[in-house]
Amino acid sequence: MNLKVCWMYHDIMDLYGDKGNMLVLQKRCEDRGISIKIDTLSIGDTCDLSTYDLLFFGGGADKEQLLLIDDLLKRKDNIKQAMEQGTFVLLICGGYQLFGQYYISADNEKIEGLKFFDYYTETGTNGTRCIGNIAIQCTLDNETYTVVGFENHGGQTRNISTPFGKVLYGCGNAFQESYEGFYNGQVLGTYIHGPLLPKNPKVADFVIYKALLKRYPEFKKEDLQPLDDTLENQAHEAILRKLGISNKA
Ligand code: GLN
Repeated sequence: MNLKVCWMYHDIMDLYGDKGNMLVLQKRCEDRGISIKIDTLSIGDTCDLSTYDLLFFGGGADKEQLLLIDDLLKRKDNIKQAMEQGTFVLLICGGYQLFGQYYISADNEKIEGLKFFDYYTETGTNGTRCIGNIAIQCTLDNETYTVVGFENHGGQTRNISTPFGKVLYGCGNAFQESYEGFYNGQVLGTYIHGPLLPKNPKVADFVIYKALLKRYPEFKKEDLQPLDDTLENQAHEAILRKLGISNKA
């Protein structure tokens, strides 16, 4: 089996270990004999995103988001085409914000988003930011998981009818909101860095499974060969314990 991944703006959108998500996908695929090819995309590169099974877009500071936005908006039709053809999309923080209507930066500059979804992101009142460890509980395609990580965002994202999960600890989409991220079956957007996938191996496998569906529509998640996740699960549990949360999944 083959998996083709495009890591968008790898050179500028890579906060708090987002790169680790790519390393984890690569290792978990290789350990199972799934051939994975990870291409990178920088500003100005020519590339047909619809040829990929998975698009990954990490987080970045306001400065980086402003730097890439013109290039990203030019790719709107191509990203739409990719999604229509079944490409799965994983977005972290700054990347997640830019798939919505707009993002108001800390300097009150409005950055127009791709507007694929109704959510929009405004800046925290008086420069406040959501910073720290985060844990959520989510149900993805009928399976419930706890997900742990780290968040650091000024952006307050609102108007989401299908969040990724419910916040157990931390902020999530906005201060005083109890939900985190966005998930519509094909696009998973989240504020969780840390990076997301190493301490959440079930989410890593979920992403691999969803990405494989484009080429292998008959593939079932149970078909993924089990791996020894002892260390990963210990890391996951250690964070939950530290946060005073008992594992619910
Ligand atoms: N610059 C954005 C914000 O502060 C995104 C930050 C990030 O990707 N961690 O909200």
